[in-house]
Amino acid sequence: MRVKPRLYSGGIFRRQFFALFGTTIFFFGATCLALLQGTGKAIIDRQVEVSTAYRDEVRSRVVDWLSERSSDVQYFARSLDAEEGSLSPARAASSLSLFVGVESIFREAILVAPDGMVVASKSGPAKALTSVADRDYFKAALAGGSFVSGVIRGRRTGSAEIAVSSSLRPGSRGPGSPGYVVVGFLPLEAVSAIVEDVSLRDMGLAYLVDDEGRVVSSPAYIKAYKELGSEAAGASVDNLAARELRAGRQGSGTYVGYEGTSVVGAYTKIQPIGLGLVVELSRDRALRPVTTVLESGLIFLIIALALLALVSVFLSGRLVAPIRALADAADAVIREKDYEPLDFRTGTELDQLVELFNRMSAVIREREESLKDSAARDSLTGLYNHARIEEFLDLEIRRKRRAGGEVTFVMLDIDFFKRVNDDFGHLAGDEVLRGIATILEDSVRGGDIAGRYGGEEFSVILDARSYEEVAVFCERIRKRVAESSFASEGSHVRVTVSLGWTRQSAEGLGPYDFVRSADRALYSAKEAGRDKVVGLVGREGSAYSDGRPDAAG
Ligand code: GH3
Ligand code: MG
Ligand code: MG
Repeated sequence: MRVKPRLYSGGIFRRQFFALFGTTIFFFGATCLALLQGTGKAIIDRQVEVSTAYRDEVRSRVVDWLSERSSDVQYFARSLDAEEGSLSPARAASSLSLFVGVESIFREAILVAPDGMVVASKSGPAKALTSVADRDYFKAALAGGSFVSGVIRGRRTGSAEIAVSSSLRPGSRGPGSPGYVVVGFLPLEAVSAIVEDVSLRDMGLAYLVDDEGRVVSSPAYIKAYKELGSEAAGASVDNLAARELRAGRQGSGTYVGYEGTSVVGAYTKIQPIGLGLVVELSRDRALRPVTTVLESGLIFLIIALALLALVSVFLSGRLVAPIRALADAADAVIREKDYEPLDFRTGTELDQLVELFNRMSAVIREREESLKDSAARDSLTGLYNHARIEEFLDLEIRRKRRAGGEVTFVMLDIDFFKRVNDDFGHLAGDEVLRGIATILEDSVRGGDIAGRYGGEEFSVILDARSYEEVAVFCERIRKRVAESSFASEGSHVRVTVSLGWTRQSAEGLGPYDFVRSADRALYSAKEAGRDKVVGLVGREGSAYSDGRPDAAG
């Protein structure tokens, strides 16, 4: 079984990140739409109100101004004295000149006789016979009132003008009665100036448009009018405002304005001059606060997502790395039997998992070792078996090679054991084997390893510091066995054992070299009459003797 690497990829955090990312984008988008639809609509509605208010303001200024000019002419007309139905052309001319001089906005002023013939102008009595009898401004004034015309083309100047007329002493002769008429001519630029004078700053613009959609307040129009005549003059517009005005309606709306950008416009006709007035406010500019909010929102979103990514990286470091370490550790347990506990804390719920994992691997280790141990034990005596003894001997040789020092190996064989079996039976023989195993176990210390090498042969890897210590140990075993009586099924069996030992440097030697040497020593002990201890020491394998008579036999 292999640990699946899917667990390693930190997939939860990636998914979590993208889920958050998606949700954020969705809600941001929804918020933007709501802002645009709600706030944007409110702003546009307000902008409609503002443009309508501007429109009405400009119109009333123009209308007021025209009525003031009309009053100027009326006042002047009243001040002129017609001498019994006629006026001296010279006197009229000087009065007209004075009037135009004072009311300088008037380009020209004329006096018209009741028959429509021009009597005088600001420059003097009329030289040629000119009739204005067909003009509306004359007919209307003659009928007894004052009058403001639409935009007309001046007969003398050729420019676009507005005529303001009034009959002399209206009322003194009664409406409809014949009389003289005073006419003042205002240049169209004067009206355009009022329109342009209304400050919209960079919010938008106001302009005048005629029925053909020509923008008559533009300087280009005024110039072209003079040169070419009204029919061909200036640029024209064909937007919502122009169309609505042509259809005789006033109102407001959102459309592409004079300057080609989206605007909120309000339009109406200025009477009596018959020109359309349009006030246009930039839509983009009005919506700028909203777009600014959206832009800063976008920046905020980007920052938030960057933070989110950082948090995600942090979390994956904090959680994915430990999960990975756990998976690696589990993998190591499975494949390499490496039970090293994990040693870290995350401060999260994972710590519990790590703790449990460590306990689990400790339990597995214990079970494995106990299994291994029982497999390495001899079932009759409980001592280590042949295979395990060889492993231990090999380990001891390696350890001594590293650390220096000599390896001591002892072999023990029961004397005439065949006879025990023959005389007392195999069960008694087994009992003797168990008894000798007990003696060995009781005699060894922590660092020593006792085992059953085979049949009725035992061995000990002795952690001794000197030859003498080995000799003393072996002698003690021999004595104990000789003095013991092993009870089985009513009989008391006594046996002796022979011991052979070897102690030499581990350098260049393997386990079998020690087994062979100990075997040779054991053979010598048997040869010497049994119930003996023989030690072979050093490379040359010379017999050990401490001088005592019972030591080497
Ligand atoms: P010596 O070693 O002194 O030369 O004589 P010996 O009689 O001990 O000779 P040998 O080593 O040839 O005999 C070993 C006998 O040990 C053979 C076998 O019957 C007996 N034996 C081996 N293993 C067991 C065992 O597990 N239980 C019993 N009861 N006897 C065993
Ligand atoms: Mg034997
Ligand atoms: Mg024997």
